[in-house]
Parts: sequence; structure tokens; C-alpha cells
Amino acid sequence: MPDWAARVSRTKLIGPGLGQGAVLLGTHTCSAASTLISPLAGPGWVAAGDAAYAFEPLSSQGIAKALRSGCFAAYCALDSLNGKAETARARYEALVQGEFTHYRAALARHYGAETRWPEAEFWRRRLTPA
Ligand SMILES: Cc1cc2nc3c(=O)[nH]c(=O)nc-3n(C[C@H](O)[C@H](O)[C@H](O)COP(=O)(O)OP(=O)(O)OC[C@H]3O[C@@H](n4cnc5c(N)ncnc54)[C@H](O)[C@@H]3O)c2cc1C
Repeated sequence: MPDWAARVSRTKLIGPGLGQGAVLLGTHTCSAASTLISPLAGPGWVAAGDAAYAFEPLSSQGIAKALRSGCFAAYCALDSLNGKAETARARYEALVQGEFTHYRAALARHYGAETRWPEAEFWRRRLTPA
């Protein structure tokens, strides 16, 4: 966004602070899309947290899901070390995929509740079923 600095300086709360020593760095944009990798585990490895799945920032689920999948991944690793790797991986895949499916449904419900700007690109993209 080329006029980022100008826009920030016009904001009510942040803007006034800029003249008091705050340094405004350049902007960097990257995708914040929801993602789920496949497979989630293989021989000798298991993905957890952001490495396994990522959530829309507004949902604030990243930390909770990272901790939760980390626990599940630990069980998966332990079972694998005890000779039950295939069952452990299948169970882990089912758990994480189930959570992600549930999340996607909730996301669609939340975005579906907003109907004020159907023409706006931002909302059109989120209201179109994937
Ligand atoms: C700007 C921003 C705001 C966010 N706000 C929220 C929020 O309000 N609520 C929320 O729930 N989530 C939020 N998230 C998402 C949340 O931070 C992540 O979902 C969560 O931290 C994922 O945890 P993780 O352990 O999977 O990964 P990370 O927290 O990224 O931890 C991975 C660690 O591995 C280290 N690492 C990477 N490569 C290597 C390597 N080769 N060797 C050794 N170490 C390595 C990294 O340095 C890092 O410390 C936010 C994310 C961002 C970027």
C-alpha cells in the first residue's frame, strides 16, 4: 500500500504517536489464508501447529490449535515408537482433518452472517463456497 504512512498518520490513536519517536517501517504482505497440509504425518515425522494447518487470523485459533495438535502429535509419535505407526498416523490424520472441517464450517457460518457488502471483492470471495 503506497500511501500506508500517510494513512497511518491520519489515524486517531496511532497517528499522534508517530511524531514521538515511533519508526514506521515498510509494509510486507503475505497470504493469511486457511491451509491444511496432506499428508499430516509420514514415516518418522508428524506435522503440528502452523506446519499442519493455519487459520484465518480473525478466528484467533492458531495458538489453541497449535497446542492441541502438538499434544495429539506427541501421542502419535509415542504410539509410532511403540510399533503402531500406521494406526497412530491414521488416527492423527482423522483428528486434525476433523478439526479443520469443523473450523471451515464455522468460518462459512460467520462470514455468511455478514450481508452488508455483497458487491465488495473481499466479501464476495468469502461468501462464495470453496
Ligand atoms: C501477526 C500474527 C498475529 C497472530 N495473532 C494470533 C492471535 O491473536 N491468536 C492466536 O491464536 N493466534 C495468532 N496468530 C497465530 C499463531 O501465532 C500461530 O498459529 C501459532 O504461533 C503457531 O504455533 P506453532 O508452534 O505451530 O508455530 P510458531 O509459533 O511459529 O513456532 C515455530 C517455532 O519454530 C522455530 N523454527 C522454525 N524453523 C526452525 C528450524 N529449522 N529449527 C529450529 N526451530 C525452527 C521458529 O523460530 C518458531 O519459534 C498470529 C500470527 C501472526 C503472524
